[in-house]
Amino acid sequence: VPASTTFRHIKPTLLVSRLYQPSNLRDVGQDTRLQGEMYCKSQRLMQQAGLIHPSNPGCYYYLPATVRSMEKLMRVIDQEMQGIGGQKLDMPSLCSAELWKASERWDLMGKELIRLKDRHGGDYCLAPTHEEAVTTLVAHQTTLSYRQLPLLLYQVITRKFRDEPKPRFGLLRGREFYMKDMYSFDVSEEAAYQTYESVCQAYIRLFTRLGLRCVQVQADTGNIGGELSHEFQLPADIGEDRLLLCGNCSFSANVETMSSDRTDCPQCRTGTLVESKGIEVGHTFYLGKKYSHVFSATFSNAQNKPSVAEMGCYGLGVTRILAAAIEVMSTEEEIRWPGLLAPYQVCVVPPKKGSKEDKATFIAEELVHTLGETLPGLKGEVVLDDRTQMTIGKRLKDANRLGYPYVIVVGQGAVDDPPRFEVICQQTDEKLFLSKDGLLDLL
Ligand code: ATP
Ligand code: MG
Ligand code: MG
Ligand code: MG
Repeated sequence: VPASTTFRHIKPTLLVSRLYQPSNLRDVGQDTRLQGEMYCKSQRLMQQAGLIHPSNPGCYYYLPATVRSMEKLMRVIDQEMQGIGGQKLDMPSLCSAELWKASERWDLMGKELIRLKDRHGGDYCLAPTHEEAVTTLVAHQTTLSYRQLPLLLYQVITRKFRDEPKPRFGLLRGREFYMKDMYSFDVSEEAAYQTYESVCQAYIRLFTRLGLRCVQVQADTGNIGGELSHEFQLPADIGEDRLLLCGNCSFSANVETMSSDRTDCPQCRTGTLVESKGIEVGHTFYLGKKYSHVFSATFSNAQNKPSVAEMGCYGLGVTRILAAAIEVMSTEEEIRWPGLLAPYQVCVVPPKKGSKEDKATFIAEELVHTLGETLPGLKGEVVLDDRTQMTIGKRLKDANRLGYPYVIVVGQGAVDDPPRFEVICQQTDEKLFLSKDGLLDLL
């Protein structure tokens, strides 16, 4: 009799045995599809846990639990972007070379740009970012008035394409990855700086909500161009960026922006700069008129005269944030998530079939039902590990490896009067014994 008939009151998609999570316990180093790539912890853990599956270099299948987590991340990003007045739109990924030639990036981007021809011989690229596209769109509206600015447009989180010279570290550096990109249009330099600052604040709020320590550093403007730029970096040894942080004041910069090997702080002049490595998870640019001038993105000013808009652009690496969070929070063996992003919040582990606590099985089933129904935040978030042919210990190990924020064991204590449940809280590393009411309070 398959275990799932026992738990017939629970939706099959909330039973662990039914989740599509093909775990790949082979050493990722043996995986021929990954030959030539380098490996890191988040990549190995995500692959072993059935969160991602490699397809071709720099490209992955995002398996169901990852998609759940991404959707959660996108919701938090949406809240923050809409909180500062962002409006969501969607732009084509297939971009005509014409636009990229106008901004001169058709040549500047070199081999990183994925180029293709259509059936008529027309040149296209798969968009690595959308400054050209969005500026052309805004330029198209000849009636844009200063009263409608600032205008903040951001994209439905979509895939970006870059033929990275070294795709590696799983979702940290893909050739096809998800980015949130926002673009701002303002009436003046001063207004544009204010918008720039409000986006930076929104990014800081986002990382605080995720519980990730993030540093905002002065950064190079690279081939995107512009005058002012900051990166949002998660300190981590695996990071590919080198950062200089002052021990005395708030100064922090990417080494790319500094004359080499400087150790005295250029801001307070007394502090010493300390180097650390970081993963770039976000990047903001104050662009000025660089693109708006080329594409004539103008608005009519208070004197009813056309005036070129001041722009900014702001990127967040969505898939990179997910992998970077796992990278910095997990142990070598067990995944840890920012609470808001865990694919499921709770895993309930019922007794082993045939054990002396077996009669508590229905209590586990009832508990899953109660949690999902009485706590609105937990609807669809509580799974039950129905693989009751396995010992509690084995399933517990699995649950810890996957990093559910709460694991509830319905074991020996559940048949006592009154029943007690063992709760493992991943965020605080605590183990509690609670009554059903205590459990409801905690969750
Ligand atoms: P990197 O220096 O790591 O190559 P970048 O400076 O080229 O990144 P941006 O053009 O600033 O990247 O893009 C905005 C954000 O998109 C980055 O801050 C990063 O979080 C994310 N990102 C960029 N390239 C990749 C990639 N290959 N895979 C995953 N995320 C990426
Ligand atoms: Mg790059
Ligand atoms: Mg960079
Ligand atoms: Mg960057």
